Order: sequence, then C-alpha cells, then structure tokens
Amino acid sequence: MDAFDPDREAVIQRAKDSGIAALITIGSDMAGNIGGIDLAEKYDFIYSSVGFHPHDAKDFTGEIFDKIKGWATSRYSALTKGGKIVAIGEIGLDYHYDNSPRDIQREVFRKQLLLAKESNLPVIIHSREAQKDTLDIVEESGVRTGVFHCFSGDLKMAKRVIAMGFHISIAGPVTFRKSLTLQEVAKAIPDEYLLIETDAPYLTPEPFRGRRNEPAYIVHTAQVIAKIRNVTLEDIARITTLNARRLFHIGEMPEQGEIAYKIRDSLYLNITNRCTNRCAFCIRFHSDYVKGHKLRLSHEPTEEEVIQAIGDPAQYQEIVFCGYGEPMLRLDLIKNVARWIKQQGGKVRINTNGHGNLIYKRNIIPELRGIVDRISISLDAQDEETYNRICKPEFGNAYHEVLNFIREAKKVIPEVSVTVVTAKGIDIEQCRSTAGELGVGFRVRNLDVVG
Ligand code: SF4
Repeated sequence: MDAFDPDREAVIQRAKDSGIAALITIGSDMAGNIGGIDLAEKYDFIYSSVGFHPHDAKDFTGEIFDKIKGWATSRYSALTKGGKIVAIGEIGLDYHYDNSPRDIQREVFRKQLLLAKESNLPVIIHSREAQKDTLDIVEESGVRTGVFHCFSGDLKMAKRVIAMGFHISIAGPVTFRKSLTLQEVAKAIPDEYLLIETDAPYLTPEPFRGRRNEPAYIVHTAQVIAKIRNVTLEDIARITTLNARRLFHIGEMPEQGEIAYKIRDSLYLNITNRCTNRCAFCIRFHSDYVKGHKLRLSHEPTEEEVIQAIGDPAQYQEIVFCGYGEPMLRLDLIKNVARWIKQQGGKVRINTNGHGNLIYKRNIIPELRGIVDRISISLDAQDEETYNRICKPEFGNAYHEVLNFIREAKKVIPEVSVTVVTAKGIDIEQCRSTAGELGVGFRVRNLDVVG
C-alpha cells in the first residue's frame, strides 16, 4: 500500500516490537501481490497472500489468473517447505462501491475459489453488502477453509459462515462504541474460529481512529475483544495466534498436550482425557484445543509431573482440576496434589460431571474435606431422560446420583455450584430452579464456550 511508502520499515519494526508473532500482508492487485511476496522473502515473520480484489475484477485477465496460479502452486506456496504464500485472497464481492460490474465480480470470485481448491490454500474473503451472493457462491464452490475478513455481518451470517467451516476475522471497528452488532458477533464466535486483523492502512481502532492504521495497533483491537469475551489479552493473543498458524500453515504446531494451562488468572490441570459421559456438545469430539492450549494428552500425567507443571500455586487465583475428560477418574492424584496445593497457599477447585460416587461405589466427598475450596458440577439437564439423551452416561441412574453428589458436596465443600450448557433440549429455567432447591450456585455456560 502506498500509505506505507515513507516509513514501511519503521512500521514493520513497530509491529515486531509490539509482540506480533507473524504478519500476513494481503495481495489484492498485481502490484500488491508482487510487493507482498517481496516483503515475505525479506522478513522471516512476514507471510503473504495472492489474489485479485473484487474492486478490480473488471481488469482481471487470463494472464493475471495464470500468474496467481503460478505463485499459489509453486515453491512460494506455504504448503511447500520454506514457502510463504499462505492464502488466496483478498477475493470476494463488493456491492457497496460496485467498482466492477457484479456479474464480473462473481465470475472472478468463482475462478479464484476454484484455484484455492486446486492449490489447497485457504481463502481470504471480502464481502460487503453482498452477503447472500457471497455465501451462495462459497457454498457451491465446495471450498471450506479460509476466513471472512473484516467481518461486518450479523450474528445470523456469522453462524452460517462458521457452520461452513470458515474463520471470522474481527478488525478495528469492534473498538467503536456504536459497533454493537460487531461486538455481539465478536463475543459469540467459538474460540477455534476467531481471528483478528488490522486491514491497515484502513479501519484504525480506537484510540487512534482517524489516523493511518498499522499492524502494531492490533493490540488495541485484541484488548477490546478480550474484554468482550471476558478473558485476558494474553488469552486472546494465544488463541488467535494458534488459529492463524493452523489455518495458514505457519510454523510448527504443539505436539504434546499441556498438563497445566492458564486461562485468565487461574491455572487448569489436565489430568485425564477419559470420561464417563459422552456429551453431545463435548469439545473433545471435534478439537484438541481449548482457548489456544493443546489438551490431547499422549499419556496421563503422574503426580510429580502435575506438581512440576503447576510451579507456584499461590500465584494463581485458583488451581482447577478439570481435564479434557472427567478428573474424578484420578481421585488419588487429586487428593495428593490438592493437599500439596493447599500447603503451598493455593486455592483448589474441581470441575466434575458428578460421577465420583458412581465410579468408586462409595461416597468420596468426605475425602475432599479441607483440601477443596470449590466444586463445580455439571448438572446439564432438567431430568433423567434428557440427561441420558444428551450426556450418554456409562452408568444407569446417573442423573439421580449426580443430584445426590451435589447434596453430599454441599455438606463438606465450602462453595458448590452447578453448570448447564445452552444446548437444544435443555430447560435452563428448570435447571436453575433445581439448583435453587439444592441451595447451590448456578451458572449457564454458552455452547461452544469452554474454559
Ligand atoms: S462430562 Fe465434560 S468431558 Fe465428559 S463428555 Fe461431557 S463435556 Fe465432555
């Protein structure tokens, strides 16, 4: 972009200094494609995309298509070792400016989607006031990997985009006070589909609105999104960096599942991937990651490994036994490690499905006295029939026993709460009233929000 001609190197340096792990420069015309590839060759943390923007669709030729195809399928492609071209884009439809006739925009969009399919690269999609045509064309193309960039649609469109398997990228306008629809979308996107971007030199976030945008300002967009989603800036940085790396094939993915991982100010312990339920909404069935942390374990950790992974318990608000599964399956480990955490001045919470007494065929709650401060139990349904249908427990009579577990927990553990997920068929109000009758806290967890 010409806007960076006077100080491009200083802008790149500021991006690096602000903590940006990788930067993708977007191709939208031939000069931009060539300039982006040059930058990607020059800087190790810069990557580029190649494509032709709908604004210029009227100038698209067979020669241009061949050139873009050549880049996307050659040594430059990120799918070859050392290649730095990570996507086909920016492509799409723009019915706001209508700089090119709409039928030509659609034709050029279709051709480049086909190229993405052939080259196995994700797409970066621009869609402005052209929601229906964009979604229809993407749907018919069969392309299912990419991002809707600078998303400006509503929640309904976001859900359709995600259902097709696409990421959604949020830019600076989310920081504007009046961007309520965008803020609603930014709150609702599941972690694994969220990306952030600058669209520099455009769409400058607050507090720099009105000035030229640049990559370093992404921090301000990330801060606002963190606040909207009730996580920390560190959480958003980790989640979006991981998503970008996975989508665009940048760098190595973590091989090992993490034993201890931080979300907000708490430390979570991943002690097993086994569970006695098979809940329809369980994230384990479609992802290895929670909030940017890889949780699929290669082996169940020992007590020593867990203690080593914790470090100093007192530096966290609380230490949460959860697992990417049911932690009570490892009761002895919980008891020994929780005792150690308390001795070190830490606070202990357990997140459980409430099957502890079914697993051990005895009342285990008294064994947790004095070593557990809080327990959060998944109630998950208003009655046995719904529970069995949604959670598919391996035990008969499980719902009844979960209710008993809650009653027993209340006698021994200082703070007891139950959770439900906003899944189809779950009567939240009836669950709330059950929690009230049991005299315990109640929390509703949105489907797709884990951690
Ligand atoms: S109880 Fe939790 S870990 Fe187990 S299947 Fe259900 S959601 Fe997954």
